[in-house]
Amino acid sequence: MSERFYRQRVELVKYLKLSGLIKSKLVEEAFLSVPREYFVPESLREYAYEDHPLPIGYGQTISAPHMVAIMTEELRVEPHHKVLEIGTGSGYQAAILACIVSKGGGHVYTIERIPELAQNALINLTRGVPQLLEYITIYVGDGSRGLKEFAPFDRILVTAAAPKIPEPLLKQLAPGGIMVIPVGSRYEQLLEIVVKDSSGGISIKHSVPCIFVPLIGEHGWRENIQEPLQ
Ligand code: SAM
Repeated sequence: MSERFYRQRVELVKYLKLSGLIKSKLVEEAFLSVPREYFVPESLREYAYEDHPLPIGYGQTISAPHMVAIMTEELRVEPHHKVLEIGTGSGYQAAILACIVSKGGGHVYTIERIPELAQNALINLTRGVPQLLEYITIYVGDGSRGLKEFAPFDRILVTAAAPKIPEPLLKQLAPGGIMVIPVGSRYEQLLEIVVKDSSGGISIKHSVPCIFVPLIGEHGWRENIQEPLQ
């Protein structure tokens, strides 16, 4: 079974490289070493390497491989980086990031608001990439507030859609840092690449259109209504 999935993984990486979405060796190696089949529900394993999002329960999704590739490349993670991910979901993106930082002493902090998903992510990571567990810490809580006690972060990746860039995340981004975040309405967004220069100045570049589940929290969307909190 794992041989079959390995072949599918190699094919997926070939396709993402040919599409120009995987560009760097670090991201390619990460995609090749994280077995995505461990991060989707067992009943959906045969679709693990198809290029679309899949449900992971509680109304949430594991993002499509092409979106994970785009976000990871835009983030330009280096092996020594301290990375914050908002929206652990299945744990797959955290594993991809951890694979990169495992090469140079960095660490991935990831926050999930739904405790059951955080628990499942830990199970997925333990089964799928036990060698990476020491590079990942999972928290349960409102990631729109960031994780002040471990700030500043070299990189911040938000994998849920925000109405605007949460102020605490901007503050917790290190000088020279990059944040990747989908910003827009609840139903469609643009991926924004936020760069903080060495003197704290912020510049924002727009990347691709995307559709993410909402970032729900103090600096995101209110549950079940369509307006941002402030
Ligand atoms: N990165 C995930 C993966 O690799 O499977 C996919 C993330 S899924 C598209 C978005 C996740 O963000 C959901 O699991 C959702 O519960 C979570 N989320 C939404 N608002 C959040 C918040 N304020 N803090 C933390 N997690 C949040």
